[in-house]
Amino acid sequence: MQNLIEHMAEIELGRFSVNDYRGLTDALPFSVVEGELPVIVSAPHAVSQLREGRVKPSDDFTGAMALVVAELSGASAIVASRYDACDPNWDPFERCVYKQALAEMVRELGAVAVIDLHGVPAAAPDAIEIGSADGLTVKAMPGVDEFACRFLREQLSEHLGRRGKTVGLNRRHGARGANTVAHAIARECGVAALQIEISSPYRVPIDAKGHVPPGEAIPFTSDQIPIELEVRRNPDPACVEATVRALADLARIASGGRLS
Ligand SMILES: [Zn+2]
Repeated sequence: MQNLIEHMAEIELGRFSVNDYRGLTDALPFSVVEGELPVIVSAPHAVSQLREGRVKPSDDFTGAMALVVAELSGASAIVASRYDACDPNWDPFERCVYKQALAEMVRELGAVAVIDLHGVPAAAPDAIEIGSADGLTVKAMPGVDEFACRFLREQLSEHLGRRGKTVGLNRRHGARGANTVAHAIARECGVAALQIEISSPYRVPIDAKGHVPPGEAIPFTSDQIPIELEVRRNPDPACVEATVRALADLARIASGGRLS
C-alpha cells in the first residue's frame, strides 16, 4: 500500500467528496468489498443523505476509512457511494436497501461482527464514541463494546492525551435508535454490531480547503465553526493513521471473538 494517508485522500477525493459530497453520479448507491475476515466495516454516511426531507452532509472520510481498514485487516466493507435520497442510519429496515444488503452480506459471509463508522465534528465531547445501545447490539459478543472502548483508548493514548479527550461508550451517540445500522443489523442477524463515531481530528487527514460537511447530530453552532475550521486547516495525519490502524486491529481481534 502506498502512503496510507495519500491512499485515503485519493479514495475520498475520487469517490466520495465529489459533487458536493454526493459521490460519483454514475456509481451504485453503495459498494461492497469482500475480504476473508468474518467482520464487515460499514460507512453508510460516506456521502450525503436525506433525513426527514433535509439533506445531511456526509461524514467525510468515513468511506475512505472503511475501505482502508478493510484493506489493512482483511475485513469486508460496505460503503455508501452515491446520494440516494435516503439515510441508512435512520430509515426503517424494510425501506433501506443499504441495511438489507449488509444483512445479506452478514449471512453470506458468515460475519460475526459489524463495525459501523460515522463522523462527528471536532467540538464533540468525545474524540471517539462507541455505541452499542447500552449493550443491546453486542449480545452476540458480550463485552466487545467495553473492550473496543478500552482498546482504542490504549492505542490512541498519545493523541487523546495531547488533545484532552477520550473514547466514550454509549453517551450521546449510543446507537439506541431501532433504525440505526448497528441496532438493526444486531436485531436482524444476531451478530455483534458497534457504532463508532469519530471526531474530525481523528478522521480528516488533509487540509479540506474550507469544506466542512458537519457530520451528524451536533449541528454547528457559531462557536463550534471556528473550532472545526481550525482542525481542518491543521490536519493531523499521524492521528488519523493511528486511528485507522487501531480500527483495523480491532476488526482483527473481533473476528476471533477473543477480546484480549
Ligand atoms: Zn453518520
